[in-house]
Amino acid sequence: MSMSDTICAIATAAGEGALSVVRISGEGALSVAEKVFSPFGGRAVADMSGYCCAYGRVMDGSERIDDAVLTVFRAPHSYTGEDSAEISCHGGTYVTERIFRLCCKNGARPAERGEFTKLALINGKLSLTQAEAVADMISAQGELTMKAAGLARQGRLAQRIDGMKRRLTVLLGKIAAWVDYPDEDTPEVTEELLTSELSEVIAEAKALSESYDTGILLKKGIPAAIIGKPNVGKSTLMNLLLGYDRAIVTDRAGTTRDIIEESVRVGDVVLRLADTAGMRKTDDEVEQIGVELAKKRLSESALLIAVFDGSAAPDEDDRRLISEISSADSSTNVLALINKSDISEAGCVSEYERLLGGLATISVSAKVGDGQRELEQAIEQMYLGSGSEDGVLFVNERQKFCLDRALRYLEDARGGVQMGVTFDAIGVEISDAADALAELTGERITDSVVDEVFSKFCVGK
Ligand code: GDP
Repeated sequence: MSMSDTICAIATAAGEGALSVVRISGEGALSVAEKVFSPFGGRAVADMSGYCCAYGRVMDGSERIDDAVLTVFRAPHSYTGEDSAEISCHGGTYVTERIFRLCCKNGARPAERGEFTKLALINGKLSLTQAEAVADMISAQGELTMKAAGLARQGRLAQRIDGMKRRLTVLLGKIAAWVDYPDEDTPEVTEELLTSELSEVIAEAKALSESYDTGILLKKGIPAAIIGKPNVGKSTLMNLLLGYDRAIVTDRAGTTRDIIEESVRVGDVVLRLADTAGMRKTDDEVEQIGVELAKKRLSESALLIAVFDGSAAPDEDDRRLISEISSADSSTNVLALINKSDISEAGCVSEYERLLGGLATISVSAKVGDGQRELEQAIEQMYLGSGSEDGVLFVNERQKFCLDRALRYLEDARGGVQMGVTFDAIGVEISDAADALAELTGERITDSVVDEVFSKFCVGK
């Protein structure tokens, strides 16, 4: 990548659409725009000021390609910080591709992946975490991932990390002053002080790290499974949630033999939902394979939706399932649905409720759609309920890697304090943790530690 290049790309998604945008950025962006675009009324692109639009014609020599709108951004007031232009043309692959190629013919080169954002980073328009948030926002599926990426984009994540880093820097300053100038009038650094300061930063880092686990689940979709014996309405439920007929529904027991997995949006939560083969003992070999697959998928699910038929009394299979879900490990969420509420028998329902005891239970009719909203609310409550807007702050793997590294150094440092390791060695661990956090936000560690020492203590007095 060269800073002097003028780059160009189609900024909108491929496919049919009313409008598309071709974006150009770089020193030559406006001259490329000038060559391919003629504003109506004889105005020159070179005379347009920043944030101005012109309606005009995209021309390839004397051939008219499209009528379009050109928006001009002048450095540094653009996304990349360079001169930029955007041509909003008519959508569809042909016109957009032609305009893109025309720009390339006239001095721009095709942009690399993420190059506009990379330029924004290089030109100081965005921090690294903000730049990463742009990518996360583009790939966000659910509302909450979008919010998390939005908060990171606004710099909230960087603020939290900076806060932690500042605390470590101050601590390092105190240690350095105490170790290097013990005879001066410097405040004493005790093991208690170090342990308590380190514990607070560790708690903060852990909370962020845990928010990642929820964030990543929400980003990738929560692995969930619909389980229950044959014919209780699992496929019907899957179809209801999907909004179209994907699974085969028949009234013959044992129809669903494959694992069907789909991304389903349930309110603000995305589920990777599997409709598993009937969970019952069977002699049919093919069906048996389905049951085994279902078991494996079950063990990998973070959410189990167990379905029961409220129109028939619980049998041995239902009781076995209830005992299995009641003993699911604590990291698995369980939701019990008593289905077929449109034809259910009150006596059967209360028997299920009695057997299900304290498990979250909802009455639904997958066929008619009754109870769907309650089901969605229950799932949202499970994953978003306690999370404040700030609850999920980041969803980026590189950042998580840096944070976990910092956390390991901090825990080593705290362990070291307890084992009586020298403060010098503790300082090295803390400094490594601060470096890892600096790597997270993309800034290089500077002489800030040294500055901190001399700004806070009157060493030479
Ligand atoms: P699965 O084997 O658990 O996947 O069950 P299916 O979804 O294939 O449904 C079995 C039968 O129950 C089909 O005839 C469905 O139409 C019927 N069914 C499913 N849900 C309901 C419901 O809420 N009400 C009624 N009345 N019938 C249902």
